[in-house]
Amino acid sequence: MPLNLHVYTQLSQLKNGNGEPVQLVAVSKTKPLEDLLELYDAGHRDFGENYVQELAEKQQQMPADTKWHFLGHLQTNKVKHIAPFVYLIQSVDSFKLLQEINKQAIKNNRVINCLLQMHVAQEETKFGFSVNELNEILQLGKLNSLQNICIKGVMGMASFVDDAEQIHREFHYLYNTHLALQMLQKQGVCNNLSIDTISFGMSNDYKIAIKQYSNMIRIGSLLFGERDYSKK
Ligand SMILES: *Cc1c(COP(=O)(O)O)cnc(C)c1O
Repeated sequence: MPLNLHVYTQLSQLKNGNGEPVQLVAVSKTKPLEDLLELYDAGHRDFGENYVQELAEKQQQMPADTKWHFLGHLQTNKVKHIAPFVYLIQSVDSFKLLQEINKQAIKNNRVINCLLQMHVAQEETKFGFSVNELNEILQLGKLNSLQNICIKGVMGMASFVDDAEQIHREFHYLYNTHLALQMLQKQGVCNNLSIDTISFGMSNDYKIAIKQYSNMIRIGSLLFGERDYSKK
């Protein structure tokens, strides 16, 4: 299926329940470079990828001002491959990973922006922090030693269900976590918080997400068509 530019135009102009603009991240995993370039030529810059090697290859071939979002489960030994250029790592799910990102950021003489992935879905297979784990790293000031990371907010994925009420609840929970982080930032608990991004909503649930005040949606199949993993 070719890129759906009509859908793109609509998705790139959304506002959330607070009237804030919603940043669209085009999730291009498994898609060929020509699909990305078509969207780039339409003026889009924010792209999301899930696999380190695929991202590293595409980064070399896309224009230098492309903003790369990393969305997949990230192993610590692979951080070094994306650290030189990644714009936002959305899928940070452990303190160990934060430490490694900080280490690689220092090596590259930059600050790397991160979102903390929260586990809100019922599926055990999904990654992310629980609220208790999040409290632990924030309250103990453990983050303060990591001067080359900047925490911009939270990312989450709702359960894969048809129950809109449940999705609403899970997104609401993410929004509350976001507000709690903003409060901690105000209190000066950690000096590397700069909370302004709340990333939830995908092709099948973005409409609920923006009602629940998401300001970053990550859309793949609705833009590029269904993914075919067998071709990877
Ligand atoms: C693949 C993926 C998306 C996009 O999913 P679609 O349903 O195709 O829109 C968004 N976020 C994450 C973390 C993903 O892995």
